[in-house]
Amino acid sequence: MPEGDTVWNTARVLQRALAGARLTGSDFRVPQLAATDLTGWTVRESASRGKHLLLRLAATDAAPWTLHSHLRMDGAWRAYAPGERWTARPAHLIRVVLRSPAAVAVGYHLHELALVPTADEESLVGHLGPDLLGPDWDADEAVHRLAADPDRTIGEALLDQRNLAGVGNLYKCEVLFLRGVSPWTPVGAVPDLPGTVALAQRLLAANRGRWTQSTTGVLRRGGTSYVYGRRAQPCRRCGTSIRKEELGERVTYWCPACQPGVELPPNGQDRPR
Ligand SMILES: [Zn+2]
Repeated sequence: MPEGDTVWNTARVLQRALAGARLTGSDFRVPQLAATDLTGWTVRESASRGKHLLLRLAATDAAPWTLHSHLRMDGAWRAYAPGERWTARPAHLIRVVLRSPAAVAVGYHLHELALVPTADEESLVGHLGPDLLGPDWDADEAVHRLAADPDRTIGEALLDQRNLAGVGNLYKCEVLFLRGVSPWTPVGAVPDLPGTVALAQRLLAANRGRWTQSTTGVLRRGGTSYVYGRRAQPCRRCGTSIRKEELGERVTYWCPACQPGVELPPNGQDRPR
């Protein structure tokens, strides 16, 4: 699942494939950019901000522009050698192709694809909280933003990119398991909010540079998480059956024994807010 670490890795792939290159062609397959041609533009750098990708370009008139994209649940960028077959995803999912002499970057099922002056990047990502994997990561600011809404559940607050940028559902579930905190705990009642934020940052940082997301240290299939994606399987610590319920707009996984503090009936009805 594309979370901050996946987006960071993707930015690095694009950096290695395209940075410094002069584009020899572009093919946008989204209505809002269908008439855009980046031929002759130079790729300055590729960066991530939370779950947003920023490909910074220099136009032929030297004005700096940014191609913004968001992977959400299912988007991806791949870099291919010229002439290599594009096999990562079906062709109908292609949203953009950027060609350079040494590499072809193909964006699949991208969301929020937009070309804006780099000076206006803040209009796209300025609302984000501190970026867990950014050079300007600010743990104190992230804690401050989380704590500003003490009645909200920690499960929802960690996913709100305005508080801190980069945590998705997988890391949310795993961090709260590792801290022994129920996802329904109000932010104001989380015993050690700075510790929770610090752990989230460490987990994401540990997965930079590899595509397998693991919070257990185990990279083999089926062993990479404690609770995420493990509904009805035994908790790796206590053997209790892992639960899955809706929380806000997303589902959450947790171990009711290791993460106490919320009483949910077996059928999930009448759950606390
Ligand atoms: Zn457990």
